[in-house]
Amino acid sequence: MRELVGQCQQCGNAVYCDDGFLNGMILENGALICSDCADEHNESNERKYR
Ligand SMILES: [Zn+2]
Repeated sequence: MRELVGQCQQCGNAVYCDDGFLNGMILENGALICSDCADEHNESNERKYR
């Protein structure tokens, strides 16, 4: 089942929930972002934490 969750706050792409799996992520501030932007977000976070 695919449900439209909302729009990516960074690139404007539609973000879906596939069978309970969110095709993106929700940031600490509540902003919804797509999986592409989430990857970039995680990479920059990893750099910060290492
Ligand atoms: Zn995005």
